[in-house]
Amino acid sequence: MLLPQAKEVKLNGSGVSSNNNNKMALGKSIKMYLTIFVATTCVYMVLYQYHMSRQPLATNEVIKHTDKSSSSPLSSSFIASYLWSPAASVNTSAMGQGQGEGQRQRQRQGPIQLHAPNATDIAASTSASMAASAMSFLSTVSLPLTLSSSSSSSSSSDAKSIITRTTTTRTAPAVTSTTTTAATTTTTSTTRTTTTITRTTQKRLVTSGHAQNAMGTADGGVAHKTRSTFIAVSEPPPLYIITPTYRRPEQLAELTRLGYTLKHVLNLLWLVIEDANRTNPLVAHTLDRIGVPYEYLVAPMPEQYKLTKRAKPRGVSNRNRGLDYLRANATEGVLYFADDDNTYDINIFEQMRYTKKVSMWPVGLVTKTGVSSPIIREGKLEGYYDGWIGGRKYPVDMAGFAVSVKFLHERPQAKMPFKPGYEEDGFLRSLAPLDNAEIELLADECREILTWHTQTKKNSPALPLNMTRYGHTNLAFIEKLLVRP
Ligand code: UDP
Ligand code: MN
Repeated sequence: MLLPQAKEVKLNGSGVSSNNNNKMALGKSIKMYLTIFVATTCVYMVLYQYHMSRQPLATNEVIKHTDKSSSSPLSSSFIASYLWSPAASVNTSAMGQGQGEGQRQRQRQGPIQLHAPNATDIAASTSASMAASAMSFLSTVSLPLTLSSSSSSSSSSDAKSIITRTTTTRTAPAVTSTTTTAATTTTTSTTRTTTTITRTTQKRLVTSGHAQNAMGTADGGVAHKTRSTFIAVSEPPPLYIITPTYRRPEQLAELTRLGYTLKHVLNLLWLVIEDANRTNPLVAHTLDRIGVPYEYLVAPMPEQYKLTKRAKPRGVSNRNRGLDYLRANATEGVLYFADDDNTYDINIFEQMRYTKKVSMWPVGLVTKTGVSSPIIREGKLEGYYDGWIGGRKYPVDMAGFAVSVKFLHERPQAKMPFKPGYEEDGFLRSLAPLDNAEIELLADECREILTWHTQTKKNSPALPLNMTRYGHTNLAFIEKLLVRP
């Protein structure tokens, strides 16, 4: 770089001393070297910043559970550790994928990237304990174009089921990968979310909403830090949400809406049970993407009810399957039947969590009365208000009661009858003996409506895609995401 300038100086040197020219050339060169030096430094700094951004945060308060299969997935500590907190949405695929995920994505030629939403709003609206957890959750799920060809991360089979395990990694704050294993199954299948959880110790020490570990080292290694406030967060009883679902165009939309409601709730296992002979990879994919701990089971309606021209017992085999699951796997907590099409205020989940035997509350949008509710006079359950009583002892809606798991264990015969219109009544009767005084009245002693029996407009099945015209466009991908009967 110096040479051409020196030449130039010589050529233009008429009337000026060569000494001066040399000085000017030297000055210019120094300037140029300085510029190059500064530019190079900048480039290095940018590269270093990028490198640092890819390093995991200090893990002094992190316990990673890579595999929960050794302990019961239903242990309360496992579910209680399922805590949510704000996180900036990061395109994790751009951050690099772990253990072959990137490779799988490349093989798929244009995977569909779906991201967990920025959870800031979630945490802002949830309880202080959730905000205190100060952990991040991000997930990226890629759905293979050919859903059936994806390999599972791990699978094992019992008598009748294939278990497809999905691994969701939660770290603070960024790199996360979710492996979607949308395996096509031929028999009863279960998909389980196994979470790798970033968590502080069971009791979190919090200073004005900012989480630290017990030694306060989150803020630069200060061992004895004075805290103005102290909030010890313990694990609340687990909630088991039994959701019947069935194949139809609205299915994924319903599950998505409900799933993100449930995502606001701590220590919850979502039992999604489909009225079908086999699981649907699209449903598994949707559940993976939402990121709520779940079990995906199937329980088809018996043929005799399917064929009837009269009203069908919708969701009954599914709910009974859920009860069987809880009898086999749960010991404490509370169960709740949450149909996939209803609307739930998350406050009701925190209230039902402490149910001793049975709790009840109003449900909006039921029959011509617009609401179905226990009638309370002077704090006592006096009867039920519902547009259709039909000789029922418990004329309540499915969304209007919860039952404790311990109480369910004390009533080994309790189940839901295949009797349209009498499902709730039959199940609650099967919990006898149950005194009216033992029924807990939630939602401000049934003066509030926190659940609604919403119904979704039925949509006709999607028309088949013209592959000649659109076969090489994005529509070929979207086509595979549509649930057809
Ligand atoms: N359901 C089912 N199989 C069916 C119809 C419905 O599993 O054939 C499920 C559905 O997904 C919902 C519950 O059972 O979670 C109640 O069904 P629906 O909402 O159609 O009944 P409604 O609320 O109108 O009584
Ligand atoms: Mn419904």
